[in-house]
Amino acid sequence: MQIFNTLTRQKEDFVPQEPGVYRIYVCGPTVYNYIHIGNARPLIVFDTLRRYLEYRGNKVIYVSNITDIDDKLITRANEEGTTMKAVAERFEAEYKKDAAGLNCLPPTVQPRATEHIGQILGIVADLIASGHAYVARNGDVYFRVRSDPEYGKLSHLNLDDLESGNRALRSQMDDDLKEDPADFAVWKAAKPGEPAWDSPYGPGRPGWHIECSAMSRTHLGKTIDLHCGGQDLIFPHHENEIAQSECANGCTFARYWMHNGFINVDNQKMSKSLHNFFTVRDVAQAYGYEPIRYFMLTAGYRMPLNYTVELIESCKNSLERLYTCRENLDFVLGQGSFGAGEELKEKAAAARTKFCTAMDDDLNTPDALAALFDLVKEINTLSASASKEALEAAAAVFDELAGVLGFARITTLTPAEHDRMIGYVSQLCHAIAVSLMCANDNSALCEYTGDSFRDLTRIARINETMWSELFLWNRENLIAEIDQFDEALGQLRQALASGDRAGLEEMFRLSTRRRAAFDKKQPD
Ligand SMILES: [Zn+2]
Repeated sequence: MQIFNTLTRQKEDFVPQEPGVYRIYVCGPTVYNYIHIGNARPLIVFDTLRRYLEYRGNKVIYVSNITDIDDKLITRANEEGTTMKAVAERFEAEYKKDAAGLNCLPPTVQPRATEHIGQILGIVADLIASGHAYVARNGDVYFRVRSDPEYGKLSHLNLDDLESGNRALRSQMDDDLKEDPADFAVWKAAKPGEPAWDSPYGPGRPGWHIECSAMSRTHLGKTIDLHCGGQDLIFPHHENEIAQSECANGCTFARYWMHNGFINVDNQKMSKSLHNFFTVRDVAQAYGYEPIRYFMLTAGYRMPLNYTVELIESCKNSLERLYTCRENLDFVLGQGSFGAGEELKEKAAAARTKFCTAMDDDLNTPDALAALFDLVKEINTLSASASKEALEAAAAVFDELAGVLGFARITTLTPAEHDRMIGYVSQLCHAIAVSLMCANDNSALCEYTGDSFRDLTRIARINETMWSELFLWNRENLIAEIDQFDEALGQLRQALASGDRAGLEEMFRLSTRRRAAFDKKQPD
């Protein structure tokens, strides 16, 4: 596989230090709010990379942190009259719900910054001892950027240009604490009322950049294979991580760097003032999580991606086509008789080859998606005449490819879908009642259960693990409900087939009772 390495600005063979084991660090969110769709891009892109590497038989140690100490957290805690910890815990939980909804695998390790203060202070001490950092008179500790001759190698920025051109850096000089405007804090002295930890330099808290250096070293070692994040992190965050890690460790920090492009909304930069700022949760409530994942894979990860409502809707439709194809395949496989055609087997293998070629080329997900849709076309054309083996081969390849892209057999229910699901239970009760009233006329009932069955097939395809923490309050209820619903429909069909009026009456009683019990379980 080749990836575009930000460090060298070219595509390179992606070869890990230890054969077959990839050590990857992805900068995680600062948990002070719901994540927005821009945050979802690295989450989805690098999860897809991980899935692909695992699919190709590698082991991936995937570390992605939680930044639970930051000015933004402190500000929000003050606004809400609560603690930083409370804010962090709340939005970490919300973040994990979104990540699960987007079908991102849980990281191998998901460390929190506040649980690595010891390791952070260890690096700070090493940097001071080796002359790469100094303690300012207020107790801040700054990294001495001029002490690192390689500073700027990731962002390809020249330090002198930076100093003369960067107003932000100049204004930081006003506080007169730094030797050089480019120097950055690895440790910040606590201001009154701020969360603080004891240190040799007085009470304080870590700078942002040092967290990732410490968590990466703790969980992946001094030299990792790949460090990823959004383009906006290249400078200063990743540049500073490299500087402090390499100066403290005396070896390469990350061998490869990958950065994803920005998300625009209706061709404009996302901003609160333009009212085009969407959280993942907002979009998921309206369209479900899957179309967001799909959307993120429709463009190469380094390209800018433009979000519009039309695009999300078209992604939802594309996913429907995928699912319908896969459901039809199951339907055909469920039949007793098959054709003799073997062509589908070859077409499936060709789609897999095309898919891997695309993914091997710097994670070319648009071409990988095209390969999956090639397969869909072949399945739709050939399944009626295909042999059982050919159908099974096509189903296996479909599941592999869709699984790598992370939308195989997932259905995360939106609240609207959940309500619709509950609606079926009501409809069922109603239909039975109508049917009973009309004595031998069961046609209305058959119609209802027919619809319900189609939806049940879909719901039964839900990958349970993907549901993990998503809409936790209704997950268990729903699974129980679906089980019961499935069973009830079976009984109902039997009762209908045998014209068993007593059985139907029993069904009606049970359905009504179950519906009442379910209503009671719903939270306020
Ligand atoms: Zn980071």
